[in-house]
Amino acid sequence: MLSQIALSEIVYLSIATLLLILISFFTGYTIAKKQFKNLIGERQQVEASLQASQEQFHNLVKTSRNEIIALQESKKSLQQIIHTIADGLVIVDTYGGVLFVNPAAQSLFKLSETELIGYLLGVPHVIGEFTELCILQPTGNLITAEMRVEEIIWEKENAYLISLRDITERYRVKQALLESEKRLEGILSSIQDVVWSASAKTVQTLYMNLSAQKVYGRPASEFYRDRFLWFKTVHPEDKKMVREQHKLLLETGSMEMEYRIVRPDGEVRWLYHRSRLVCDDLGSAVRVDGIDTDITERKQAEEKLERNAFYDSLTDLPNRALFTDRLEHALKRNKRHPESVFAVLFLDLDGFKLINDSLGHLTGDRLLQSFANRLSECLRPSDTLARLGGDEFTILLEDIKDLKDAILVAQRILQTLTLPFNLNGQQVFTNTSIGIALSADNYQRSEEILRDADTAMYRAKAQGKGCYVLFDPKMYYLALSRLQLENDLRQAIARQELKVFYQPIASLETGKITEFEALIRWQHPEKGLISPAEFIPIAEETGLIVPIGQWILKEGCRQMKAWHEQFSPKIPWKIHINLSGKQLKGINLVEQIDKTLAETDLDASSLKLEITESLLIENVEVATNLFLELRERNIELCLDDFGTGYSSLSYLHRFPISAIKIDRSFIMQMNSQDETNEIVRAIVVLAHILGMNVIAEGIETEAQLEQLKKLNCEKGQGYYFSKPLKKEDAENLLKVQR
Ligand code: C2E
Ligand code: MG
Ligand code: MG
Repeated sequence: MLSQIALSEIVYLSIATLLLILISFFTGYTIAKKQFKNLIGERQQVEASLQASQEQFHNLVKTSRNEIIALQESKKSLQQIIHTIADGLVIVDTYGGVLFVNPAAQSLFKLSETELIGYLLGVPHVIGEFTELCILQPTGNLITAEMRVEEIIWEKENAYLISLRDITERYRVKQALLESEKRLEGILSSIQDVVWSASAKTVQTLYMNLSAQKVYGRPASEFYRDRFLWFKTVHPEDKKMVREQHKLLLETGSMEMEYRIVRPDGEVRWLYHRSRLVCDDLGSAVRVDGIDTDITERKQAEEKLERNAFYDSLTDLPNRALFTDRLEHALKRNKRHPESVFAVLFLDLDGFKLINDSLGHLTGDRLLQSFANRLSECLRPSDTLARLGGDEFTILLEDIKDLKDAILVAQRILQTLTLPFNLNGQQVFTNTSIGIALSADNYQRSEEILRDADTAMYRAKAQGKGCYVLFDPKMYYLALSRLQLENDLRQAIARQELKVFYQPIASLETGKITEFEALIRWQHPEKGLISPAEFIPIAEETGLIVPIGQWILKEGCRQMKAWHEQFSPKIPWKIHINLSGKQLKGINLVEQIDKTLAETDLDASSLKLEITESLLIENVEVATNLFLELRERNIELCLDDFGTGYSSLSYLHRFPISAIKIDRSFIMQMNSQDETNEIVRAIVVLAHILGMNVIAEGIETEAQLEQLKKLNCEKGQGYYFSKPLKKEDAENLLKVQR
């Protein structure tokens, strides 16, 4: 149209131009020329605007084509996105029918696009939030998808866009995590220890397993409710330490400690506590995780062990170790302050072994406990009473004025022992020998003063028991000489220093010798004649009694055989040999006796063995068998020192004993009118009922002899008849009798 307009204009313009030319021709060339010029200008203007609008048009066309291309491209890439997106996209209509699915959705359902389009998926309920959808694939595989629904317009209709994301793996991991959490909880609740977690800032308990009930005696819920409860349960004496340790935890990041807690019922338990500070990525403390183990049993065992190391389990008194320790302290203090005098008392129960052996160990133990109680009643709280072992006790008296104080204590102790002990309804009297040693400059070590108190105690025993003796340096030399004696005794047999003395035993009725007791003597090269009372205990302690006993058995048998031959074999003199308990152990005594009898050619019926009650009781089993074998050989058994032990005659009757020897202590006390006579009478009567003979030991006077005769005692031995004699003197006696 524009070109049409332009053409007609050109026609007009040409006509006008022609006219103008004519006019100019006629009216003037200048005007025409001027107008023509104007016209040309206008035409140029029109032409320029025409070109501009043409360009504009071209541009317009160009841009709209680009837009369409861009739109097409963006649609294409959108489709690409929808196709390649990992999430499944499903568009359903308002009835729940599938309108569109992307490939990801197809693979989620494991169905093709054609199978899915039109499929009734259902109307979604939750819009704009994440929910979960379980999809059962045709293969039977169940998957879990996270689902989010948005309302959209799809092809001018309301629809729902459902995006689905496969979270099966995540779900599986979550499930597994839950499972393992459950398992962990199971483990935590089955272990004995309290496992807990608390906030580092508020101390609020975040977790605590079920063991809380067992250990703390209260449910974990109480700890959740009261965040300070854990500290409230701490034993008052341990609170300070726990608080300090807790501060350290914040500094060092971990702590470990043992402390006590008090349970609601008042029971105290020991805990082994370990905890650790847990920090976040920025390094600030968020949590404290910990484990508390109940170590009460272990602690008790430890305490017991510790106690056992320093205390005697029977009496609960300090033992030797603790006593020595206290003594060392006293000694050191005495060195610094010589005015702080102290004394050590060494006590040993008299005749305890016999009580133990005859009344049983249980009674013996009870006696030791009662004895310990009585001793502590005689002491101040600051004094140390200890049991060194067996029936040995020691006392440390600190801060005393002088020796008199120690003596007073010893006297008090002896005084309390005049009353009997009541042990299970049984009245038992016991006494003690006490040795006293006083602190002095020359003591360097605790053993020295203890040794001296012990030495003094031995002196007290030797002085007749039931008394106290103060240590005197002379005693130390006595103890030394005892050691010397022991060494000498080892060589006594080889050096032929041992001798046998023979003491006759006579029939009370006829006054004639019927047997001899072989009594050993030691002819010491320097000390002269030593009594067996002095060296037999040493021989027993060192075991030397075995070779000595063997020697005297042989010597006695040999001598008796010699007398039989020398005098008349018709006179049935018998030889008494004393047996020590130690001889029953380790060696075959019967074999030895057989051998000796064979060697000496003495008739077995001429041998009588003297045994004591304690020997019997200590070796019941060995003794029973031994005695039966002896009886088979016609070797008689004689019970020595009867009345000094605790056994009753009826008990002893179980053993094949043919005679009892009433101890000298009873005979010594016999008068014309005395109740001792009654005791002896009872013994004699009972022995006769049990078919035993009676020999009275230690008859020294005619009066005693007369009394015994009246009591129908068969035989006697004592200075009244004869002292133990050398073999030559005994021989002379036999000659006289003949
Ligand atoms: P025992 O077997 O009771 O011996 C009796 C002791 O009483 C002897 O003392 C004897 O000398 C003493 N005696 C006898 N009659 C009288 C008297 O009328 N008055 C006084 N005061 N004492 C009298 P001894 O010989 O000193 O023996 C003491 C103890 O040594 C013996 O007591 C015995 O237990 C033991 N013993 C002696 N020889 C041996 C031995 O060869 N082997 C063993 N194992 N022990 C022996
Ligand atoms: Mg004897
Ligand atoms: Mg005797």
